[in-house]
Parts: sequence; C-alpha cells; structure tokens
Amino acid sequence: MMWRLIFLGLLIWLVIHILKRNIGQIKSPKNDTDVNTTNTQNQTHIEDMVQCAHCAVHLPRSEAFLVGGAIYCSKAHIQNK
Ligand SMILES: [Zn+2]
Repeated sequence: MMWRLIFLGLLIWLVIHILKRNIGQIKSPKNDTDVNTTNTQNQTHIEDMVQCAHCAVHLPRSEAFLVGGAIYCSKAHIQNK
C-alpha cells in the first residue's frame, strides 16, 4: 500500500515536471514568433508607405494614386500637377 502511494506521488511529480518543461518550451518559441510577426508587420507597413509627389505627405500605398510613375495622395493633387 505504501509503495503504491510513493509510486503514485512519483508519477504525479514526473507528469508535472514534464508538463512544466513542455509549457516552458512551447511558451518561449511562441513569444519569439509573436515578436517576429510584429516586426515583419511593422517592416511591411513601412515599405508600403509612399510619398505624394505634390505635397510630400506620406500615405499607405493602397491609398495612393499612381499616375505616370508619380504617386499622389489625392485626385486633387493629380489634377494640379
Ligand atoms: Zn498630396
């Protein structure tokens, strides 16, 4: 009876020990991935920024107007050029 209790306690300790190690191993790479993802997103965001040829304002490429190889922030600035 006593041997069973000791064996059970040892088994529980082993499971907790393995779980803690696994959680630690899972957590660290996950945090690194999160940081890398954030950095990649920031770099992409910076790369997507373009400058208006008329007023030199910075805006996302998706919101910019590309006319004749020049980038403009609005249709009004395309007409003024
Ligand atoms: Zn502009």
